[in-house]
Amino acid sequence: MANVALSRVCIFATRTSTKSSYWRGRSILCSSVKMASTRVSSPPAELLKPIHVPKKTLMGPGPSNAAPRVLEASALPILGHLHPEFCTIMDESKVGIQYAFQTKNELTLAISGTGHAGMEASIANIVEPGEVFLTAVKGIWGERAGDIADRYGAVVKTLTKPLGEVFSLEEVEQALKEHKPAAMYMCHSESSSGILQPLEGLGPLCAKYNCILIVDCVASLGAVPFFADELDLDVVYSGSQKCLSAPPGSAPITFGPRARAKMANRKTRVSSFYFDMEWLGNYWGCDEGPRKYHHTAPINSIYALREALAILAEQGLESFWKRHQECAELLWKGIEDMGLQMLVKNKDLRLPTVNTVCVPEGVDWKAVTVYIMKKYALEISGGLGPSAGKVWRIGLMGENCTQYNVELVLKALKDAIENCKQSKL
Ligand code: PMP
Repeated sequence: MANVALSRVCIFATRTSTKSSYWRGRSILCSSVKMASTRVSSPPAELLKPIHVPKKTLMGPGPSNAAPRVLEASALPILGHLHPEFCTIMDESKVGIQYAFQTKNELTLAISGTGHAGMEASIANIVEPGEVFLTAVKGIWGERAGDIADRYGAVVKTLTKPLGEVFSLEEVEQALKEHKPAAMYMCHSESSSGILQPLEGLGPLCAKYNCILIVDCVASLGAVPFFADELDLDVVYSGSQKCLSAPPGSAPITFGPRARAKMANRKTRVSSFYFDMEWLGNYWGCDEGPRKYHHTAPINSIYALREALAILAEQGLESFWKRHQECAELLWKGIEDMGLQMLVKNKDLRLPTVNTVCVPEGVDWKAVTVYIMKKYALEISGGLGPSAGKVWRIGLMGENCTQYNVELVLKALKDAIENCKQSKL
């Protein structure tokens, strides 16, 4: 082991010694580890050239582009994960997340990970092995939640709706009566079908049946009116990279009083250490105790999230909601003017953030996305899960949700459809 370590020093010293006097003195090491260095493979040539990141407008289902000031924040100097200045930034992010969710829940923070981490943290903490977990499936996200709950030892029951439809309270109540679940999953913003699930009444209904409600608003937080406390939701999580327009890597999450009581009464330990909310809540200053080291937060991702939340605070939630709705309506009109159809017919149930446009007969959906990327450096994407091959998904999220971008994507889509039809004939 020691020889291998020395040989690494040797290679590095050789590469840089002409440039750096710091390493010149260390080149003496080379002779003593000459033999060992023959065992070390060459440094990867790919890394000896500069990183290549083209500029693209990301109007798929996420991530979306970040504001320059958010990216600048993420390039600020790294602080220690328990330094007081970083703890202040965590506290500021926490109140920003409470504002975004419209909650006063004390146990509110950002999980270190993407939206899936929020999903897994919710399930890992709420559901115990052998308990019934009900998942409402109307696209891929309900399936994912069921898969995760199954891995944590839950008995998974499924309530299913066809593509582009939502659940009624009556349907949910029927399933709650039948399965008596300890927890249920509902996706607010089903980004695979472009549908927005109404949440009114669902929280109190689950409470009536002693079921903890977990709501996924990864593709809607910041874009659609959302009131976690008023709706009496137990657990809600989201992702940083969609409507908040921060880089991917942090998942805002909040736990209400019923969820906390369920966690406090667990008979078994949370089987994930990384997602254990007792530890995470302490690290995020959500309890009385001094903050303890649990893991090293992705420091610079938290700076970026904090800055994205600052933009939300400066502009205000209502202005974010209004902009998303107005841009979506502009897009829908443009799509209909082109003779195309939206998958979700009822405008009140359309997700304004991930818009699903039906692929017309005779058009190669993939060729269209490739054409648009090549000519406009613009991302729109195809369907996912049950919508694969049937729709394009056009994202209008956060920074990218502007009238300019709506006009750009409509122009690009029209151009691409004309050209991709021609190439098929
Ligand atoms: N839930 C929904 C509704 C989503 O749209 C996504 C991301 N497309 C996720 C969960 C998973 O998020 P991530 O890719 O950030 O892990």
